[in-house]
Amino acid sequence: MQRIIGPFTQILPLADMPLKGSVSDDALHIIPNGGVLVENGLIAGTGDFETLRKDRPKAEIEEIAGSQVLLPGFVDCHTHICFAGDRAKDYAMRIAGKSYLEIAKAGGGIWDSVTQTRQASETELVGLLKNRITRHLAEGVTTIEVKSGYGLNVEQELKQLRAVKQADQLSRADLVPTCLAAHIKPKDFTGPASAYLEYILNDLLPKVKNEGLARRIDIFIEDSAFNIDDAGHYLRAAKQMGFDITVHADQFTTGGSSVAVEVGAASADHLEASTDKEIKGLAASDTVAVALPGASLGLGIGFAPARKLLDAGACLAIASDWNPGSAPMGDLLLQASVLGAYEKLTTAETFAGLTYRAAKALNLIDRGSLQKGMLADMQAYSCADYREILYNQGKLKPARLWKNGSQLITDR
Ligand SMILES: [Zn+2]
Repeated sequence: MQRIIGPFTQILPLADMPLKGSVSDDALHIIPNGGVLVENGLIAGTGDFETLRKDRPKAEIEEIAGSQVLLPGFVDCHTHICFAGDRAKDYAMRIAGKSYLEIAKAGGGIWDSVTQTRQASETELVGLLKNRITRHLAEGVTTIEVKSGYGLNVEQELKQLRAVKQADQLSRADLVPTCLAAHIKPKDFTGPASAYLEYILNDLLPKVKNEGLARRIDIFIEDSAFNIDDAGHYLRAAKQMGFDITVHADQFTTGGSSVAVEVGAASADHLEASTDKEIKGLAASDTVAVALPGASLGLGIGFAPARKLLDAGACLAIASDWNPGSAPMGDLLLQASVLGAYEKLTTAETFAGLTYRAAKALNLIDRGSLQKGMLADMQAYSCADYREILYNQGKLKPARLWKNGSQLITDR
């Protein structure tokens, strides 16, 4: 059964836009008084609402009242939302000026989340995930990448990834799991970091693959986590096993993004410390550069050089990094709006970074724009002009939301 949804005051399909580099707002194609033709959860076409209706007299009509602007559902290509507990104590210490080391000495840091997540059952993790997914859906995010990385041994990493798989089945959002067993070397592992990575390669990743728990792996390349040489070896071996690669790169020191480009990673994420050299390398590659403004806001540090990356020709996506330590807020649209204000991004660049460019970071080709054959993942905002969305800096939330063509949120 075909269904026509509309009329929308404006539809921004974000189709036929450049995959890489800067984009002026003139490149935004806007359909006034638009409609979307949906069939079997997919978009069958977009166009003038009245024309669509005349051309298909038998189609069902889902009528939209009032002024609404339609966008593709957002894709959050980097989160850590499979965790238990919180790290409010860390945050209080950090805003009071304490250092990373002082916080770690007081029992904070990633290890605290590992301890709390290990204590949670798989069922408890599924419940926590579902709450966070519900919030993300309400804020327009229809596809969510979710990393493990708070288990840090075979059994606990599998527990996290199984929880993500269950939550994916139980929720309306699409979850994209990523194995981040290489988050930090766990305190209870005896031996060097390289031996820990060998253990993950030999004992965990084959199980992840056999159980179909994730098709992507991630590593945190940083002085405090894994060095460039060990990471390079790990990533090449994982790639040989058939995993897609993403990297936590250049957050505090450089080096990670070069490894990401070298191994052909789908994305290099963070990049707050990237210099002109790293920017050039990313721009010349097919690796998506992912800015995580939520981490900059949580840590009180500068943003990734989003403007420079775009001007150099890189593909820039924007993700929330939602996690209990450095990015507890998780409001993707708010964070992207603030990043855009500081980095001087056009509306087209910010929307591209939240939709089809973020889908590219996950190697997903079936979403991120509203055109024939794409998933009917869509969100509508109660306003008459698309520019009001970023202008409200995250305060304006979608009034309606569709996943695979079904409406999940109706006129709030
Ligand atoms: Zn992260």
